[in-house]
Amino acid sequence: MYVTKIGNGPKIDFRVCNGCGTCYDICPMDVFGWDEEKQMPFVAYPGECDSCCFCEITCPEVAIDVVIPLHHLLDFGIRLTEINKRKSRFIDKIELP
Ligand code: SF4
Ligand code: SF4
Repeated sequence: MYVTKIGNGPKIDFRVCNGCGTCYDICPMDVFGWDEEKQMPFVAYPGECDSCCFCEITCPEVAIDVVIPLHHLLDFGIRLTEINKRKSRFIDKIELP
């Protein structure tokens, strides 16, 4: 059985990405590719993402947002309202220079 995932996986905000390569190095599923010319990562295989969020957690510039499939959220009994609350708590803790 084939399952098509649409729009899931990591999203990189290139306005803040510094090209450190951490996401490329750390992803256990090799979702990221590396653009040698731009010296920047890109999302090569979003369908392979298993939503572990290592890339989002370790990105030093907070440039990655992993879009978790709705059925995964529901499997774990996580409601979208709860996710939004958690994200807003996290954003409140970010110290801007
Ligand atoms: S870890 Fe973050 S800052 Fe570093 S290359 Fe990846 S997206 Fe860019
Ligand atoms: S969430 Fe995990 S599997 Fe998905 S791109 Fe990030 S590190 Fe890779």
